[in-house]
Amino acid sequence: MDLVKKKENCCGCRTCEKVCPKDAIHMKADECGFLYPEIDFEKCVDCGLCLKKCAFQSGYKKRKEFEPYYAYGVRHKDERALMNSRSGGAFTAISNSVLKEHGIAYGAGFDSERQPYYIKHMGATTKEERNKLRGSKYVQSDLNDVFPEIKEKLEQGQTVLFSGTGCQVGALYAYLPKEYENLYTIDIICHGVPSPKLWEDFLHMREKEKGGKAERAAFRNKKRYGWKAHKETVVIGGQPYTSRIYTRLFYGCNIRPSCLNCAYANTNRPADITLADFWGHEKAMPDVWDDDKGISLVLINNSHGMQLWENSRNEVDEVEVTGYPFRHRRLHAPMEKPKNYDQFWKDYAKKGFEYCSEKYSNHKMEEPRKEAEVLKETKPETEETKTEAVKEEKEDTAQEAKQAETLPKKVFRHIKQLFGE
Ligand SMILES: Cc1cc2nc3c(=O)[nH]c(=O)nc-3n(C[C@H](O)[C@H](O)[C@H](O)COP(=O)(O)OP(=O)(O)OC[C@H]3O[C@@H](n4cnc5c(N)ncnc54)[C@H](O)[C@@H]3O)c2cc1C
Ligand code: SF4
Ligand code: SF4
Ligand code: SF4
Repeated sequence: MDLVKKKENCCGCRTCEKVCPKDAIHMKADECGFLYPEIDFEKCVDCGLCLKKCAFQSGYKKRKEFEPYYAYGVRHKDERALMNSRSGGAFTAISNSVLKEHGIAYGAGFDSERQPYYIKHMGATTKEERNKLRGSKYVQSDLNDVFPEIKEKLEQGQTVLFSGTGCQVGALYAYLPKEYENLYTIDIICHGVPSPKLWEDFLHMREKEKGGKAERAAFRNKKRYGWKAHKETVVIGGQPYTSRIYTRLFYGCNIRPSCLNCAYANTNRPADITLADFWGHEKAMPDVWDDDKGISLVLINNSHGMQLWENSRNEVDEVEVTGYPFRHRRLHAPMEKPKNYDQFWKDYAKKGFEYCSEKYSNHKMEEPRKEAEVLKETKPETEETKTEAVKEEKEDTAQEAKQAETLPKKVFRHIKQLFGE
C-alpha cells in the first residue's frame, strides 16, 4: 500500500490513521514539522481502506446545493464578540446557537497544557470554552482524536458543530460512516497552514531574545492594531512583545505542500456554511462598517446551513450580497508556489529557524537580554493577573449573553441597491 506518493497529496487529516482496521497507521512529523501517515507493513493487510477514505486523494463530497450561494456581509452586534474574533464574529453567533441547544462546537484552540506552543482541535460545550476557539491561529491545527469523538457524540444524538479548514471538513465527512442530521459544518476559506514546528521555533527564538518563557500568544491583535494589520503578540515574562517576524514568514513559503495543491480552493465548498474575511467589502457594500473592526463573509451553501443560520442571525447585523463576484483568490485556485519555497525548506532543515528568519524575513536574532535587565522588567503572572484575565473572560461572556437577549433584530438588506433586484 503506497498511501502518500507525494507530500502535496496529503493534508495531514489523520482519517487514514483512524479508519485503519489493523491500527497499522501512525502520524509522524517530517523535518518541516508537518504530520504524515506512516504504515507499519507488519500489520497492514493491504485492504485499501485508508486510500479509499482519503478525501484529499480520492475526492470529497461537495455540500453546495444553492447556486449561487446565499452570501452576507456580517458583523456581530456585540462589540466584545466582534473585537475578539478574527473577522466579523460570525463564528461566535453560529456556535452560540448550537451551545444554546446543548450542542458541542469543535474548532482550533491553544492546548491548555502546552499553550502557546501546541494548537489542536477541541470541543466546547460552554461559552468560556468556545471563546478559546475564536480568532485565527496561523498554524496547522492537529485534529488529534476529535473524529472518533465526534462520531460518538453524533450517535448519542447530540448536536455537533465542526469548524475547520476545507480539507478538515472534507476529511470529517469521509471519516463518518453516514450522513447525520445533527451535524453542522463550517469551512473557513484558507490559503494555507504553516508548520507547527516553525511556530514552536519562532517562540523559542523570542524566548531566547527576551529571556523568559512564552506564556500566551495572539496572532492578530485587532483591538490594538485593527483588522487589516497582521502582527503577532507573544507574552514573555509577563510582557507582551509584538512583531511581524512570524507574519512575514507566514506570507512567504512556510505553508504545507498540500496547500499549493489544494483540492478545496474552489466554490464547491465541503461544508454547510463557509466563512472568510470580507476583503473587497468596500465595493460589495459601500460605506458600511468602514472602520477596520472586521467583517465576516458568510456563504450559506445548502438548506441545512440555512437552518443553522436562521437560528444564529439574530445576534448579527447583515448585508445580503448574494450573487456578488467575490474576489477571494482561494475560491478559485490554490496559492501559487513561491519561487523560493523549496530553497526555504532546504535551508530550514539544514540551517534552522534563526538562519531562515534572517534570510527570509530580515529579522536578525536580537542579543539575548542580560539577566539583570530581565529581572528588572519581568512581570510574572501573579494570581492577581490570572484572576483579571479570567474575570475579563467571564465579563465578556455575560455581556454577550445579555446583548444577544436584549438587542432588537436589525437586518440591513442592501441587495436592491446593489443588484437592482
Ligand atoms: C490558517 C488560516 C488561513 C486563513 N486564510 C484566509 C484567506 O486566505 N482568506 C480569508 O478571507 N480568510 C482567511 N482566514 C480567516 C478566516 O476566514 C476567519 O477566521 C473566518 O472568517 C472566521 O472569522 P470569524 O470572525 O467569523 O470567527 P473567529 O471567531 O475568528 O473564528 C475562528 C474560526 O476559525 C477556526 N480556526 C482558527 N484557527 C484555525 C486553524 N489553524 N485551523 C483550522 N481552523 C481554525 C476556529 O476553529 C474558528 O472556527 C484564514 C484563517 C486561518 C486560520
Ligand atoms: S490526507 Fe489524510 S487520509 Fe489522506 S493520507 Fe493524508 S492524513 Fe491520510
Ligand atoms: S491498507 Fe488497510 S490495513 Fe493497510 S494501512 Fe491501509 S487501512 Fe490499514
Ligand atoms: S489550503 Fe487547502 S490543503 Fe491547505 S489547509 Fe487550507 S484547505 Fe487544507
